[in-house]
Amino acid sequence: MAMPTLCCRGGKNGGRTGLSLLELLMVVTIIGLLASLILPRAAFHTLSAKERVCRKNVLSINQAAERFFLENAAHPSTIADLNTVDQFPQGIPACPVDGSAYSLNAVFRVDGHQHDEAP
Ligand SMILES: [Zn+2]
Repeated sequence: MAMPTLCCRGGKNGGRTGLSLLELLMVVTIIGLLASLILPRAAFHTLSAKERVCRKNVLSINQAAERFFLENAAHPSTIADLNTVDQFPQGIPACPVDGSAYSLNAVFRVDGHQHDEAP
């Protein structure tokens, strides 16, 4: 009477362990498909986050310009006048999208930072 063996030698796999070339190609193809679906969305969210930070920076600078006017009864001559320890302890921020500096227009507001929305 033959005893059943626990080893798979001589079985369906021929005793080999691991993945065959076809199985490996299928795994690589599936990983590639998933990466092609996920990576463009991740890039979109990165740009969107930078645009949101830019909008927050513009709002903060405009509010600082209004506070400056209320406290000094005069408009700031340049954006550097707003750079106080109370309002911007780390200095006036730069646009995180393109790295450009913000500037005040003729009505003492920041404009020109409407970045293109990603589709
Ligand atoms: Zn910007």
